[in-house]
Amino acid sequence: MNAFLVVFAIFFLAEHILDYWLTWLNTRHVRSHANEVPSYFRDRISLEDYQKSVRYTLDKAKLGVAASLIGIPILWSMILSGFFGMVDLWVRSWGFSSIPTGVIFLGIMSALFYAVSLPFNLYSTFVIEQKYGFNKMTFELWLLDFAKGLLLSIVIGVPVLCGVLWFMDRYGQSYWWLYVWMLLALVQFVITTVFPVLIVPLFNKLTPLETGSLRSRIEAIAEKVRFKISGVFTMDGSKRSTHSNAYFAGMGRFRRIVLFDTLVKTLSESEIVAVLAHEMGHNLKKHVRTGLLLGLGASFVALFVLSRIIHAPWFYEAFGFRAASSYAALFIFAKASGSFTFFLEPLFSMLSRKHEYEADRFATEAMGTQQPMIQGLVKLTQDNLSNLTPHPLYSFFYYSHPTVMERISALENV
Ligand SMILES: [Zn+2]
Repeated sequence: MNAFLVVFAIFFLAEHILDYWLTWLNTRHVRSHANEVPSYFRDRISLEDYQKSVRYTLDKAKLGVAASLIGIPILWSMILSGFFGMVDLWVRSWGFSSIPTGVIFLGIMSALFYAVSLPFNLYSTFVIEQKYGFNKMTFELWLLDFAKGLLLSIVIGVPVLCGVLWFMDRYGQSYWWLYVWMLLALVQFVITTVFPVLIVPLFNKLTPLETGSLRSRIEAIAEKVRFKISGVFTMDGSKRSTHSNAYFAGMGRFRRIVLFDTLVKTLSESEIVAVLAHEMGHNLKKHVRTGLLLGLGASFVALFVLSRIIHAPWFYEAFGFRAASSYAALFIFAKASGSFTFFLEPLFSMLSRKHEYEADRFATEAMGTQQPMIQGLVKLTQDNLSNLTPHPLYSFFYYSHPTVMERISALENV
């Protein structure tokens, strides 16, 4: 038995047992609170809406469990049967050089794993989201999105992958991992910068927010907190879903504020301004930069670790490969690393929640009152059917945002 495979299996098992246990705790907790609206929300959210949010939470949890009960046996039978090695030999037999062989192999694997998750994605959109009135997407739009996404990953993903494989093959004995890291950092920087200008418009229509009181109030608060903006836009999010959101995207002169049309419809002007002040807080308090740097640090460590094991035969044998290759190394690493880093997840969630509290506080100070932020949070919770009663351990482990109640309590005590 391959020792690496045994260690991976142990981590994988631990990851999924912990995940199932947390999910079980959470659903039990939600069920046991289902008969009564939590006290703070009692005169703000009706029992009917609250119970709808309970059913929505439970339906999503069930789908998640079903997806992993199907996905896990498929992954492990592929690993143990030597399937990956067979596909690798088959692709190699076509006689291409190593980079095209790698692109084809990874393309086949992405298609296979995409196919396994596809029924669950479709079920989520067209059954669950539909049932709760969120989904506005037609099947034609879904197909069009799929085609655009595929084209985008070919146009951007394939050249980047070729670059990565080239560095790995050319500098395999020395600093390939450092060059790959620099390449990925550069790609990430470019994509983040142009995202709202080149990528978002492929899927959505961005319209400059018309001049009027909302726009002047947004510009006034941006000026007050000294936040540079180069455009406030609304986006037709409603053509896919009624879930609402707002975000900043892009860097430098491409930086945009994007408001979903659904958000503009639901929230009052002050509430929207408060939500945006919160987002500005993330920027000005350097949360966005911290997040980017942490991501870069994580990929630096990950590539370094891979560089230490990439020449070991046991690494490839564990997943049934008969020969070493750069693309097989990337593939195994992508499939296995999540189980080893899963246990670090609460650390990132904790940092993220700390940032959320800071941004809420920032918004309150910028607005001079916490009321619009609190009212906005209550409305968004209600409209998105957010879970009001997550189990504390579940939210501690997974939640990137504090629970609504935690945020409101913190805001009331500012
Ligand atoms: Zn936030």
